[in-house]
Amino acid sequence: MSVFSNPQDKVFEVRRKALVKELLGKGIFNNAVLEAIGRVPRHLYMESGLHHRAYEDIALPIAMRQTISQPYTVARQSELLEIKPGEKVLEIGTGSGYQASVLAEMKCRVYSIERHRELYEMTRQRLQQLGYKMELKCGDGTLGWSAYAPYDAIIVTAGAPVVPEALKNQLVIGGRLVIPVGDDKEQTMMRIIRTAADRWEEQSFAGFKFVPLIGKDGWDE
Ligand code: SAM
Repeated sequence: MSVFSNPQDKVFEVRRKALVKELLGKGIFNNAVLEAIGRVPRHLYMESGLHHRAYEDIALPIAMRQTISQPYTVARQSELLEIKPGEKVLEIGTGSGYQASVLAEMKCRVYSIERHRELYEMTRQRLQQLGYKMELKCGDGTLGWSAYAPYDAIIVTAGAPVVPEALKNQLVIGGRLVIPVGDDKEQTMMRIIRTAADRWEEQSFAGFKFVPLIGKDGWDE
């Protein structure tokens, strides 16, 4: 996808390269992740009044009082998924579509669910305009998306009170689920690997702060 549709894009490209360097300095070493972040025009996933802040390593507001995750968080979650090109990945919490685009740039087959209808419609249109091909759905992602299961990897981009059973069961053997779990103040990044039909191994990583995962196996609305 070309991002050079007007002269201003060159400025954003320079800022994007600086962001990639910043993420490398913060310990993101996965080349596929860094290259994907270097390609996705993050400013186009937010309102134009925020474009000047798009390449700062911070979360920013999007519609429906939600956020586009901090680039470091997107990079770290993408890295923890340990995905290979061609793998099938389910994202819970499409939001702006930025994380989904990073995964698409990593050559994954992306499926993504968003619970807010308005956000889902806006993002569907945006991703289409940007030329990304992925399967999107509006609904409660804590239930997963059984029609396309099993997945090689599942990423949850909102903070969950518990790990939804449906997501664990929609992984292939060897599949990875990356999900922030905790209370409303802080969540631990968990990676759950399905090692057999009835066995999962858990690993935990540093703390993060996400907007809440709301749904049957999430927080109440
Ligand atoms: N991945 C997004 C991006 O790149 O912009 C960031 C998402 S934002 C931090 C979390 C999103 O999860 C919000 O858009 C929120 O509406 C959505 N969400 C919360 N609970 C959900 C659920 N049960 N199913 C699907 N989406 C949910």
